[in-house]
Amino acid sequence: MNPTELIWHNGKLMPWAQAQVHVLTHALHYGSSVFEGIRVYATPDGSKIFRLRAHTRRLFDSAKIHRISIPSSPAEVDAACRAVVVRNNLTNGAYIRPIAFRGYGDIGLAPKDNHPVELTVAAWEWGTYLGADALEKGVNVCVSSWQRAAPNTMPALAKAGGNYLSSTLVSLEARDNGFDEGIALATDGTVSEGAGENIFVVRDGIIFTPPSGASILTGITRNSVMVMAKDMGLEIVEQTIPREMLYIADEIFLTGTAAEITPVRSVDRIDVGDGQRGAITKRLQDAFFGLFEGTTDDQWGWLDPLDDAAVQVEKSA
Ligand code: PMP
Repeated sequence: MNPTELIWHNGKLMPWAQAQVHVLTHALHYGSSVFEGIRVYATPDGSKIFRLRAHTRRLFDSAKIHRISIPSSPAEVDAACRAVVVRNNLTNGAYIRPIAFRGYGDIGLAPKDNHPVELTVAAWEWGTYLGADALEKGVNVCVSSWQRAAPNTMPALAKAGGNYLSSTLVSLEARDNGFDEGIALATDGTVSEGAGENIFVVRDGIIFTPPSGASILTGITRNSVMVMAKDMGLEIVEQTIPREMLYIADEIFLTGTAAEITPVRSVDRIDVGDGQRGAITKRLQDAFFGLFEGTTDDQWGWLDPLDDAAVQVEKSA
């Protein structure tokens, strides 16, 4: 991680090293946090935050699921996200991490309504998540021996800190066995998602992805790909995907804020198609990255400008 100068913490921009919590913070013990990961892209028209409103909405949705009252409005979170980018001069691309968490107070499992909730927004430079070559050459993945949490256990639609204990096991096992990433099955044995990515499978020109009920986090990149694919006239279907479909797919790709659109080269050491990035994956990558290069028109209003809101946050802090 590359530290920057300032972090927005509980309403104030403060030096990176001073944004700290007590060791008896509730979230540290029980994973009671909700968070987001948001990318900033340098475009010919200046730096833009990709789908800021969608991320802020999911942050508040995650908090609602876990009964966490975020002590700021969505507009204030948006402003804090812009502030940490502008004030840290991260105009060449960055990753923004807002996190709301149960703070220091009672350590019981049923926090009282007045239990403090803290809100932090940090940003730093971050390159390709699965390696520099991954976007072109693809990654080697395995099906994990760890499954996703069953429905009605840990809510998958909430992007909550505690959920990532599962993702960490999936990812570590994959890396330990020489793979770049692990794909987890849902408890019914059908395909769910990667440790930190959604998955798409292409067969005979049709793009398939598991539905929201398959214990997935409904990714914002997933949604962007679905919208773009439809607009490009591609057929895209949300449906349950049996594990073995991974072995006979023509193309597979992973999506996520960190992974962007990453082709999968092999699953369990079996080549996907001919082991090269597929044509549909490449078309979707071109459309997606074209948004930031200026070759895809942002007809959806997904690119959020860095405006003067950043300055306002500093004045009120
Ligand atoms: N699934 C999981 C478990 C994730 O952590 C992520 C990354 N946030 C995703 C899917 C992809 O979501 P998004 O496209 O919104 O980053």
